[in-house]
Amino acid sequence: MLHIIFSLLVSMQAPAAPTNYSVVQDGLKKIAQENPTTTELFDIGLSDSGDPIMGLKIGNGETPDLIVATHHGNEYGSTGVAMGAADAFAKNPIVGHTVYIIPVLNISGYNNRNRYERTPSGSVDQNRDYPGPCATTQPFRSKATKALADFIDKKNIVSSATLHTYWPAVLYPWGFSTKDITTSYESTFINLVKASAVESGYAVGNSKELLYAADGAFEDYAFWKHGVWSLLFEMGKSHNPSQSDIKRMIDVNVPGFRRFFENAPKERAANHDFTGKCDYTRALQRTHLE
Ligand SMILES: [Zn+2]
Repeated sequence: MLHIIFSLLVSMQAPAAPTNYSVVQDGLKKIAQENPTTTELFDIGLSDSGDPIMGLKIGNGETPDLIVATHHGNEYGSTGVAMGAADAFAKNPIVGHTVYIIPVLNISGYNNRNRYERTPSGSVDQNRDYPGPCATTQPFRSKATKALADFIDKKNIVSSATLHTYWPAVLYPWGFSTKDITTSYESTFINLVKASAVESGYAVGNSKELLYAADGAFEDYAFWKHGVWSLLFEMGKSHNPSQSDIKRMIDVNVPGFRRFFENAPKERAANHDFTGKCDYTRALQRTHLE
């Protein structure tokens, strides 16, 4: 299996070389073939590009969890880490858990090395395309974000890791336009981000405090809408990681994903409403690059 991941990584290595979703699909099929007792291919529906948004279901435990990568099409390092996690968990599933891994949510962006997805209604930043308590724009312009939202609802996802490059940091809600950034579960989230960053040594903390306010992001939506234990992984130090950079990101983050899912509560959070006030002060908004 490793040769598939490495051929994937090699194809990503040269900055000018195109990333190719069909290579990711082949990699998922290969992992599924090599681990027939622990894995099952699935898709969550078609993207605006007409491609099936594929994933791998790993394990048969009663707690369903999610890893989703590449809301931002240019962040191929996060796809590499999702594939590394798929390979590792397929060989050694997490006892008591079923982990759904979706390595590329933004398929046209991935194929074009572009942050944005092409849709009939124009270019979409998928990680600003979810409803949110302070979101001011029309949500779900992308078929992919709607499909993912339906999927986490239908599968009753309990914990979720959304993967991006780069910062590096592991972050928890709230991260949108408000000064009232504390959820009812601050200490739980702090314990979870610390557990997730043991090997990586990444910075940990509240999304808005460490990064910036962003409305319509998946990580906030999953907690706000359903009480999913939702963490944002901003991995590595570049949007153009080399093969060895990606291998290192896999090595230091996959144990953190495992510990996150093992340590998270086995039920969704009960008190997940946002009760604060929205605040669109310009100082909160920084350039959205991660
Ligand atoms: Zn990103």
